[in-house]
Amino acid sequence: MIIPNNNQGDETQFLCDVCSEPVTNPICPFCLTEEIEAWLTFYPGLRKALLPKIHKYLDKISNKITAYGTICIKCKDNSAHVCPYCFTAFVFYELKKLHAEKFILKEYFEFFNFDLHHTGYTKEAEELGVI
Ligand SMILES: [Zn+2]
Ligand SMILES: [Zn+2]
Repeated sequence: MIIPNNNQGDETQFLCDVCSEPVTNPICPFCLTEEIEAWLTFYPGLRKALLPKIHKYLDKISNKITAYGTICIKCKDNSAHVCPYCFTAFVFYELKKLHAEKFILKEYFEFFNFDLHHTGYTKEAEELGVI
C-alpha cells in the first residue's frame, strides 16, 4: 500500500501490507528468511517442517510485488512491503504451532526480535517465559 506523506512534501511512505504501519526497518522477508534458514541448520527437524511454510508465505507475497515498495537495506530490492515485525511474528507463530522447544523460541528471540515497541508477540513470549 502507498500513501502520500504529507509531512514531507511529495515524499511517499510505504506501509506494511499486513499491519499498515510504515516500514521503518526495511529488511525484506526474503533476506530474513536467508538468516532464519541459516539459524535453522542447527535444528534439521524443525527446518524441514518450517521452511515449506515460510516459502509458501513468500510465494504469496512475491505474487504481490509491484513497482512500489520500500527498498530493502540488504538486497536493495523493493520487496520490503511486509515489515520485519509482521514477518517474524508469522514465523514465531509457526514455531509455536510446531511445538518448538522453549530454548529454541528463546534463541529465535535473541536473533529475530523485531517487536521493538514490545506491544506484539513479545508479550506472548514473556508469558511463555522465553524472553
Ligand atoms: Zn507489518
Ligand atoms: Zn532483501
